Amino acid sequence: MNVNYSVLERQYKKYQSEYEEAALRAMRSGWYILGNELKKFEDNFAAFHGMTYCIGVGNGLDALRLAVEAMEIGKGDEVIVQANTYIATALAISEAGAVPVFVDTDAFFGIHSDLLEKAITSKTKAIMVVHLYGQPCEMDKILAIAKEYKLRVIEDCAQAHGASYKGKLIGTFGDVGCFSFYPTKPVGALGDAGAVVTNDNVLAERISMLRNYGSRMKYQHEVLGMNSRMDEIQAAILGVALKYVNQGNSERKKVAAAYLEGIHNAKIILPKIKPETKHVFHIFPILCDERDRLYEFLEKQGIHTQIHYPIPCHLAKCYQELGYQVGDIPIAEHYASTELSLPIYVGITKEEISYVIDRINQFE
Ligand SMILES: *Cc1c(COP(=O)(O)O)cnc(C)c1O
Repeated sequence: MNVNYSVLERQYKKYQSEYEEAALRAMRSGWYILGNELKKFEDNFAAFHGMTYCIGVGNGLDALRLAVEAMEIGKGDEVIVQANTYIATALAISEAGAVPVFVDTDAFFGIHSDLLEKAITSKTKAIMVVHLYGQPCEMDKILAIAKEYKLRVIEDCAQAHGASYKGKLIGTFGDVGCFSFYPTKPVGALGDAGAVVTNDNVLAERISMLRNYGSRMKYQHEVLGMNSRMDEIQAAILGVALKYVNQGNSERKKVAAAYLEGIHNAKIILPKIKPETKHVFHIFPILCDERDRLYEFLEKQGIHTQIHYPIPCHLAKCYQELGYQVGDIPIAEHYASTELSLPIYVGITKEEISYVIDRINQFE
């Protein structure tokens, strides 16, 4: 049997006629950038979160970067962020001109709230949290610290659309919630797209200017902006994807439940689920001391897995000049060398799930 890590085609086929109708509608409208489809999606995405504003942008990285820039965080400033995340989280801080200060992670792959205070300096302006793999961070503690030190909170929600912490949707805790709609994400476009949600009218206004050449009115450029707009076709497609976000999340949750129940192997540590949170399992991470051997073993059985992420941000070559050394952020480094992500997606079959469980249990 062959089990691919991700098969987007299955999700596409499930909603094919709706996706195609939406795309055709946008194509036939004769208006392709900053039009009604985007407006409609922004309204729906804001309403989904019970937030006042949503600004559609080009991708998830830009959503984060424009949020940082809109807060006027830049040169000379520091932003605290977990080391175990996709590089985009940290790059958003660097691209805005600020410095990412990396901290370690907790047992749930979120930023370790007990380590936050130690990382705060006079230059710290914000904490960027990542609801990694689809599981919300410890928001109560993070918000309390942010409040005490008057820091902004930016949520990287790229992997956690529809996840919640104590009954409240992620993306609604911080000053801004930043989303990616990269095709594999829990709400996926058929191309690149991203968005920011917020209740702050000043930030919303700045982000919508920054995404469109720093302009509110044509040819009046108030700030140094960029071009990062969600196009009409992606906005139309996302209207369909958003309708099915909860359905997709429950489908992946069932796959996760099957893995959690079925995998029994002393060499493997299953992911811990935080109480009082709704985890949406964008990724199903297991830990194994012999990760690379497990990866090869599964490949031989036709099971394709991935690693999220093999190098923690503080040790990435692009951050060499920040001077971090191996051993500085030990839990993140340990996860980077032991994590393996199992196939989990809309349309994965019962047979495929059983096959994965069966083969993992045979690993010795
Ligand atoms: C996907 C992702 C991003 C970046 O999103 P893009 O749309 O690819 O730019 C940022 N942060 C995390 C945690 C992600 O998974």
